[in-house]
Amino acid sequence: MEGGVVVNVIDAHMHMVSRTTDDYRLMAAAGIRTITEPAFWAGFDRGSAQAFRGYFEQLTVYEPKRAAQFGVRHYTWMCLNPKEAEDLKLAEEVLAFLPEYLDRPTVLGVGEIGLNKNSKNELVVLERHIELAADRDELILVHTPHLEDKLKGTRMIMDALENEPRIRPERVLIDHAEEHTAGEILDRGFWAGLTLYPVSKCSPARGADIVERFGDERICMNSAADWGDSDPLATLKAADEMRRRGHPEARIEKVFAGNPRAFLSQCPKFKG
Ligand SMILES: [Zn+2]
Repeated sequence: MEGGVVVNVIDAHMHMVSRTTDDYRLMAAAGIRTITEPAFWAGFDRGSAQAFRGYFEQLTVYEPKRAAQFGVRHYTWMCLNPKEAEDLKLAEEVLAFLPEYLDRPTVLGVGEIGLNKNSKNELVVLERHIELAADRDELILVHTPHLEDKLKGTRMIMDALENEPRIRPERVLIDHAEEHTAGEILDRGFWAGLTLYPVSKCSPARGADIVERFGDERICMNSAADWGDSDPLATLKAADEMRRRGHPEARIEKVFAGNPRAFLSQCPKFKG
């Protein structure tokens, strides 16, 4: 532990396809050397099954190679994201070939599934993904809606997960948790992920507040690091915030490395 840096931070939620090689270089130098990238929206609709195949190839073949050049181990998750779930025909086409990608060596499970506007079709597509994860005993990474729909959407997602008796909550990470959802997520036995952003949503200071309020069991923080205003080093900033507040290094190490490792290690493909 040099200069209070948490070594080997694991960031379970980064969208590296929209980041630069400079980001990889900075992350590796700062100690973020293991990351996982959920499949998500790209800032625009892909709109065709063929385009999803291209994205899944990028996530499973090209991006791990790009990351490895900088000493970063890259894992990924597969799904059709909730922002493109209104088109049920497209969703079925993508679901039909998802198992082919779930079998690949760096794919840890199904994600990031969930809801965006809490619509009926989004719920249908969410349930289809939950069923697929249950059939294959996959880990699940969940996207919860932002802003005013968050609490309602988070509850709808947890209800859908609990409606499938084969899903065990300790194998599900519910991301984009905030002050008003983290308690219920943890009470219902799921993992809670806090997604840190520089200006909107959960800041590093709010992340530290949430750990102080709800404890450090089954909770982790990540940077989202997507195409919008986001920061691939946000986890380190939250760790520094906890350090400034006097949290012991062991607790910081647990939130930023031990906890994500414990969750992700439930998938035998995860090697550290
Ligand atoms: Zn995401």
